[in-house]
Parts: sequence; structure tokens; C-alpha cells
Amino acid sequence: MAPPGRARWRRSGSFASRTRNIYRRQAERAGEPLPYTLAELRAVVTEAIAAGTCPYCGWALTESNYSVDHHHPISRDGDFSIGNILVCHLRCNKIKGNLTSHEFLHLSAFLGQFPPEVGNDVYARLYAGGRFMRRA
Ligand SMILES: [Zn+2]
Repeated sequence: MAPPGRARWRRSGSFASRTRNIYRRQAERAGEPLPYTLAELRAVVTEAIAAGTCPYCGWALTESNYSVDHHHPISRDGDFSIGNILVCHLRCNKIKGNLTSHEFLHLSAFLGQFPPEVGNDVYARLYAGGRFMRRA
């Protein structure tokens, strides 16, 4: 997968405001108080960024390109527990869509058997298609 450095995949705002916004959106989505605190979410994000790489593509994970994903998607009956959280690139999160982290890693391994341009084309289509599906 290509590196995630393009500006359109970055989110602006400080670490504090971004994590607060993520926390609020998750709580809204859950419709009830989350089973973890904002401080616990920030600790998970900080630890993932310190680890250095996105679990999906292996490229650098930074304060400007991360997002909070779920191993088991909420849309597929995943839960809001802190253990279901996975920090990855915003772009990788959008490409992954409603796949589990396990399924997405299998798909990535499969695509890795082809020349890089094949995988990049499929990822670009998934990214674009995901945007279309969210509008529908
Ligand atoms: Zn990534």
C-alpha cells in the first residue's frame, strides 16, 4: 500500500482536540457513556503512535494521520470496548470499511501477491467506493 502522506488524508487540529472529538463521536454513536475514559483513549492512541507504524500498511503513524478504528466493526456488532480499538491511518480505516481487522489483513496479504500497482488500484477503488457508500 502506498504511503499515507498526502494532505487530503490528514486531519487538522491538536492531539487533544482530535482525541476529544473522536471520543465524543464514539459516545454519540454508542448512545451511552463509553466504557473507557478520554484519558484511556489518549493513552491507547499515544502508545500506537509511539509504536510507530500503522498495523495495516506498515507506514509511519503520526499525530497528523491516525484514526481510531475497531478490530470488529461496530456496524457488524462489534463493541465499544477499549480492547476493540485499533489505531491506524485514516486512509487505511476508510479503505478497510466494514471488514474486520483480520479480514482486511488477509485481503492485504492476498493483494500483496500481485504487483504493487494492482494493490494500489484496488485500494484506490475501495477508498473511492467507501466514500460513495457513505453518501448513499
Ligand atoms: Zn496504514
